Amino acid sequence: MGQGSASLMKGESAVLDPVLVRRLRSREPLLWLNPNRRPMDEARVGMPLCLADIERAEDLLRRSAGLLAHLFPEVAPSGGLIESPLIAVPRLRDAMFIAPQRAGRWLVKADHALPIAGSIKARGGIYEVLVHAERLATDNGLLHQTADPTSLASPRARSLFGRHRIATGSTGNLGLSIGVIAAALGFKATVHMSSDAKSWKKERLRASGVEVVEHTGEAAVATGRAQALQDPRTYFVDDENSKHLFLGYGVAALRLPRQLAEQGIEVDSTHPLFVYIPCGVGGAPGGITFGLRQVFGDNVHCFFAEPVASPSMLIALAAHAGDLPSVRDIGLDNLTQADGLAVSRASRLAAALMRTLASGVFTVPDDDLFCDLYRLEQTEGIRVEPSAAAGFRGPQWLLDSSAGSKYLELHDALPYVREATHVLWSTGGSLAPEPEYRRWHERGRRLAGVLRDESHGQRIQ
Ligand SMILES: *Cc1c(COP(=O)(O)O)cnc(C)c1O
Repeated sequence: MGQGSASLMKGESAVLDPVLVRRLRSREPLLWLNPNRRPMDEARVGMPLCLADIERAEDLLRRSAGLLAHLFPEVAPSGGLIESPLIAVPRLRDAMFIAPQRAGRWLVKADHALPIAGSIKARGGIYEVLVHAERLATDNGLLHQTADPTSLASPRARSLFGRHRIATGSTGNLGLSIGVIAAALGFKATVHMSSDAKSWKKERLRASGVEVVEHTGEAAVATGRAQALQDPRTYFVDDENSKHLFLGYGVAALRLPRQLAEQGIEVDSTHPLFVYIPCGVGGAPGGITFGLRQVFGDNVHCFFAEPVASPSMLIALAAHAGDLPSVRDIGLDNLTQADGLAVSRASRLAAALMRTLASGVFTVPDDDLFCDLYRLEQTEGIRVEPSAAAGFRGPQWLLDSSAGSKYLELHDALPYVREATHVLWSTGGSLAPEPEYRRWHERGRRLAGVLRDESHGQRIQ
């Protein structure tokens, strides 16, 4: 099987360990360790993407800062940089009752507060639309290699973009990101959504001048892609395959070392870094993991969090052979309140790259999402959406489960847990309307009370 990236062949059903399938099907939360994770020197060999690709993405975003500040006054104070803070969360850590001497340092990477899109989809979505806009402008003689991207806001560029359409298919946050940036540049924009997507997201898009097309079931992406293929003036941002999205997400990783250094945090073999990222199709956590492994090598350990109903990346990485599996193949229904993570089949690109880079995947019942988003607000005053809370049990899995101990031992990290840093990636939520947030909060409050009673105040689970 070698590096494993070529082992998933189209047309044959995936081969999965029956014991694992039984546990996943029972919806028992679990931590799965990736047996194919490799040291970076080995993993790098033959990879279709490299660090320079993310650096190019970072470069375009930096060059476009003036343009973004012009289009979106909210990013003017940061000079047009789309970035989120890294926030220490000691009170959340203490509330989660890990023995303090083993808990290490906990931080939230606050992508729920990313400007413009209010979610982790901002970097990737904006980057891909900028790539397309720059290419169109260059092809039409409006932009020369060295030109300032600010000219993409010129009347001539706007009138060019007005004759083109950008489309995507999404359960919500990607649509918000793509729709808002595309419309701001003057493109016609279409977002294909499932009809049960949150109505406030549809309304918000329509208010920005974006066309929202509703589909029943999971047809949104496939239909959007097929329609875009019919029209040479439509560009489709493909969540399930896009290299640009992946690289744009990866830009976050290039900026993390400085954010850690500013807080005096070292990362090396005696100061390991553990990162927990909610995973849907795998593009966002995949891009970030790809970038972090380039930057921190083997001293960073990236775990993905998926709903118990939608462990699509877990089964993609666990499959020994066969085609990319769907959670429906193992009897799961993909029904979860974590709408950003409700994905039945992982991205082929992300799954192939994560095969040797990711450390593992843990699964989360919906109740825990609400409980943890409530706990985050109570302890740190931070508001996130349910999907964004999926990674919060990560440190407990690592420090308090037999699979976690096995991982720490295998990677010689057991002696260094006191010196470890845990980054909980919070991926969305700052745009949620107040009534929606109150409902999540209420459900979390009830659950947190029940769970505390059952455990006599000792632990949350
Ligand atoms: C999209 C999304 C994710 C996961 O990103 P994928 O690229 O789909 O894996 C996580 N959290 C939120 C809030 C999202 O919108």
